[in-house]
Amino acid sequence: MTMNNRLLPTYDDVVAASKRLERVIHHTPILRSRTLNDRLGAEVFFKCENLQRTGAFKLRGAYNALSLFTPEQKRHGVLAYSTGNHSQAVALAAQILDMPALILMPEDAQAAKLAATRAYGAQVLTYNRFTEDREAISHRLAQERGMTVIPPFNHRDVIAGQGTAAMELLEQVPNLDYLFVCLGGGGLLAGSLLVAKQQTPDCKVYGAEPEAGNDAQQSLRAGRIITIPAPRTLADGAQTQALGELPFALIREHVQGILTATDEQLVEAMRFYAERMKIVVEPTGALSLAVAMHGGLDLSGSRVGILITGGNIDMARYARLLGE
Ligand SMILES: *Cc1c(COP(=O)(O)O)cnc(C)c1O
Repeated sequence: MTMNNRLLPTYDDVVAASKRLERVIHHTPILRSRTLNDRLGAEVFFKCENLQRTGAFKLRGAYNALSLFTPEQKRHGVLAYSTGNHSQAVALAAQILDMPALILMPEDAQAAKLAATRAYGAQVLTYNRFTEDREAISHRLAQERGMTVIPPFNHRDVIAGQGTAAMELLEQVPNLDYLFVCLGGGGLLAGSLLVAKQQTPDCKVYGAEPEAGNDAQQSLRAGRIITIPAPRTLADGAQTQALGELPFALIREHVQGILTATDEQLVEAMRFYAERMKIVVEPTGALSLAVAMHGGLDLSGSRVGILITGGNIDMARYARLLGE
């Protein structure tokens, strides 16, 4: 696929997305922690997208993209493939907009995720992820049924929608010096950068990814998208093997840096959220706090935003991780 600059979203696209989303999403709260402020010598503000509908920010991008369908596209519906939060977001967005949705999920996906996606009214088809190619299947299905594929991050309207989370945060808490954003395929970080660059140009925005899957860090160094083998990390929302082309174009231009966290640091951050702040955060969602605590930056005296991206985790797994 060649890079098409016309598909890059702009700040105005994020503003337009925020109007579309106004009455659909929760305007999630900002939490604070005296303990963390004391530890870092900073003022820290947590944007709680783990409390968003479907349990993650992804409804923002999915709803924005689907609401821009033509009547013809809407009649045939949307197709998405994802193991995680994007599936549930597309399913709910399609239900709200009253269009058919087909979600392709691996047959060994968590039963709770399959059930949640079906509960939003989507048709779920499963495939064998060891023997079948999901992109080939989805393209065939999309053609047969005339459906539009909405990818989880490499799409202009998805990126613009994701940017509305940072936009809300900067409205709730102006003048941040730092903003930490979790990173998988880079859609959320790219959207956040569009907003921060416009609203608080001096704010330093950092991406946070797992140490075992630092493809974004490698890509920034190399100046091109580096693809890595599927990383082994607790952060299942960040097991992407490469950044999307559109996110990469925005990230390389505007990001201050990419920091990484180990699995132990993710568990420590999840435990902090549970014990100190009484909130459930999934491993991927804890990346931003983990790098703020361990990334080696001196944050003293500054105002720090931390985007918590999601809270979807199987309770048995959560108990196992925190019980260790
Ligand atoms: C999807 C997701 C991410 C990463 O978002 P990208 O746009 O792919 O970078 C981070 N955290 C959670 C909880 C997610 O669901």
